[in-house]
Amino acid sequence: MEEGKILVTGGAGYIGSHAVRQLVKSGFQVVVVDNLSTGHLDAVDPKAEFVYGDVRNLGLLDAIFTKNKIVGVMQFAGKIIVPESVSHPLSYFDDNFSGVLAILRAMRAHDCKNIVFSSTAAVYGSSKEPAITEDAPLHPESPYGFSKLAAEHLICDCEKAYGIKHCIFRYFNVAGASEDSSIGEAHPVETHLIPVTVNASESGKQMQIFGNDYATRDGTNLRDYIHVLDLADAHVLGMKMLLNGGNSAIINLGSETGYTNKEIVETVGEVTGKKVNYVFGPRRAGDADSIVASNKKAMEILGWKPTRDLKQMITDDVNWRKKHPELYGNPNNKFSKVQLQHVDKVNETRNHSSLYEELENIDRIKAHKIKVANDL
Ligand code: UDP
Repeated sequence: MEEGKILVTGGAGYIGSHAVRQLVKSGFQVVVVDNLSTGHLDAVDPKAEFVYGDVRNLGLLDAIFTKNKIVGVMQFAGKIIVPESVSHPLSYFDDNFSGVLAILRAMRAHDCKNIVFSSTAAVYGSSKEPAITEDAPLHPESPYGFSKLAAEHLICDCEKAYGIKHCIFRYFNVAGASEDSSIGEAHPVETHLIPVTVNASESGKQMQIFGNDYATRDGTNLRDYIHVLDLADAHVLGMKMLLNGGNSAIINLGSETGYTNKEIVETVGEVTGKKVNYVFGPRRAGDADSIVASNKKAMEILGWKPTRDLKQMITDDVNWRKKHPELYGNPNNKFSKVQLQHVDKVNETRNHSSLYEELENIDRIKAHKIKVANDL
């Protein structure tokens, strides 16, 4: 396996921080870059090096790649809330597409050939299939889904043009926290069903199940949930596969099992021992009846399948919230626990975008000369 470090963008976020931890456990040296816009410094494994900054900053990326031998990138940095993307499409394309564009430019300039990319089931839109396979039609229904699909296309184009290999993961629903309850899901406003329900169960406050007239076994939406640690394990396997010379792949990460929203609410009540106070509310815009992933390809290519069940996800989320009633607490926390890398060589006055464009143009001229020579 090629020796060097793994750069994790968005490694202070919910899924990124669990992936960093599993990478470190597997013996990888990890550098995290995160602008802490939604991530938390305390979520970053203390054994990882931390660079505070934005993944769209080409100068910063240049400095990170110059200072470290990066052999692979895991790209988590980005935004994930569908309704927010509808009201802020520019911001979603900037974060989710421009971020990937910048990373790929840096990878190309520094000859880094492996990227594991965090994509989404939202690229499929509503599907009639009982279990969605990777070759299902792609019909994103939100700027979020489109921004991820656009990034996927760019990543695939960069394989053809520059030989940068990829493992693109399309996630379904994710929940849970680390086994020791030290890291978990922490958003300023929780919108996802499991944390919303856990909070409602603990506080006794009423929550809503959005819609009960869908075409499912009890009328509420049906979704496919996997544990965040299973998801993180898949990322480590994906990176190892690429570093060991494996081919690029696009892979669903799901369980092939669906739970309805009502079943989720009831299971949370069983786990906490506190009945959840809920009502059925109106449908939420954009919700498909039922979304379940086929995970055959993940098994075939990575030997991966989920190992932690729904009760485990809920139990881990409950324990994480009990242990951290304030989640990560004060966002203005200190840079103490993690090894902060000072990337002091960043020359902000240099226009890195045009630098990269020059590089790419030089190649075009070279390619043209070769073609002309071959045609002689
Ligand atoms: N949901 C709900 N009440 C809530 C939050 C979510 O009924 O307070 C439903 C939502 O309409 C969807 C399912 O739970 O049917 C999963 O939504 P979530 O936002 O967790 O994930 P998504 O599937 O949208 O990525």
